[in-house]
Amino acid sequence: MKITAIHTHRLTQALDGDERFDSAFSTFTERAACLVEIETDAGITGWGECLGPTAVNAAIVQAMTPALIGRDPLMIEPIWFDLYAAWRDQGQRGATVTAQSGIDIALWDIAGKHYGVPVHTLLGGAFRADVPAYATGGFRPHGRDRLDRLVEETAGYIAEGFTATKIKIGFGVDKDEAVIRAVRAAIGDAHLMIDANHGYDAIEAIELGRRVADCRIDWFEEPVVPENLTAYVRVREGQPIPVAGGETWHGRAAHRQALDAEAVDILQPDVAGCGGITEMRKIIADAETRGIRVVPHVWGTGVAVAASLHMLATIPPQPGRHVARDPWLEFDRTPHAYRMAVLRDPIEHHAGRVAIPTAPGLGIEIDREMLAKFRA
Ligand code: CA
Repeated sequence: MKITAIHTHRLTQALDGDERFDSAFSTFTERAACLVEIETDAGITGWGECLGPTAVNAAIVQAMTPALIGRDPLMIEPIWFDLYAAWRDQGQRGATVTAQSGIDIALWDIAGKHYGVPVHTLLGGAFRADVPAYATGGFRPHGRDRLDRLVEETAGYIAEGFTATKIKIGFGVDKDEAVIRAVRAAIGDAHLMIDANHGYDAIEAIELGRRVADCRIDWFEEPVVPENLTAYVRVREGQPIPVAGGETWHGRAAHRQALDAEAVDILQPDVAGCGGITEMRKIIADAETRGIRVVPHVWGTGVAVAASLHMLATIPPQPGRHVARDPWLEFDRTPHAYRMAVLRDPIEHHAGRVAIPTAPGLGIEIDREMLAKFRA
C-alpha cells in the first residue's frame, strides 16, 4: 500500500454576538478546524485532525506531504520518526507537532481499516467499552452576566445526565471565587473542575486555590503559563487542589520535562496536538510509570473525539483494584455547528457516558457534504 495524496480540510463557523465567549486570554469568534485526509492506492482513506490555528496547521501538513507520497502508510513509527527528525530544528513544540498529529491520526485510521480492527485493538486492546464524560463549557459569555449564565449552563449539563462539568476561570480571584461557589451550589454533588487557561500567575493561583478549597474541585487546570514549570510546582505546593496541565506541552519531550519537574498531578496530552496516537501512547506510558493520572485534553470535531476515545480505551486503570476508576472524556458543549455533523454517526453521550468506537480504524465515517458546507 502507498500514500497517494494528502488533503487538508479547513472548516469554520462564525459565532454571532451572544454566541461568542471568552477564556482567560482569548475570544472565540469562530469555530475552526483542520482535518487531514490521507488517500492510498488501496482505496483506503484515513482521517486525522490538528489542534490549533488551522491556516498554520494546513500549511505545515502540505509542506510535509511531499516526503510522504509513495510511502507505505502502515510504517507509522518510521514515518513519525522521519517527520519529526525533518522538522526538529523548527519544531519540537507548537504547530509542527500539531500538524504531525493530524497526519499520524490519519495513518492509524488507515491501519485499522486495513487490518479490519479498531485503533484501540491495534494499540493492544481496550480496558473499557465506554468512559465517563465531563461537560466542558462555562466560558465567560458575551451579552450576559457570567455568574447567572454559568449557574444555568452547568445545572443544565447535570440535568442532561452528566456527572461532571468544567468551568473557565482566570478573570480575577474575587469574581472567580463567586462563580465557583455559585456553580458548586447549583450542581449538587457533581464533579467540578476549574480551568484558568494560564490566566493567573502563581500568587493569584495559590490564593484562588486556597479560597475554594472547600468546593470539592477535582482539578485546577492550567493555573499558570505552560513554559514556567517552577510556577506550576509553586501552585502545587501552595494550595490543596490537584493541578492539571498538558494541552500545550506538545510532544513527549515536553511532557517528560513537566513530569520530571513534578509540575502536575494530572497530565492532559491532546492526541491532536501532542504528536498523534504514536506519541500519545508513549506519553501515557511515561505518566503511568510515574503514577501520574492521564486525563486527555480534547477540543475539536468528532474526528479528534474519536481518536481521543481510542486513547482513553487504552489508558491503564492504575492502580489495579476491584473498583476501577475510568479516565474522563473531555466533552465540549460550547456552540459548534459542525463538531459532530462532520460524522455520519455523531458521537453522543448517554447518561454522561460515551462508548468507545468499535468499527475499523477510528470507527467514524466523514460526511463530505458537511465539509463543503463549512469550508473555510
Ligand atoms: Ca484547558
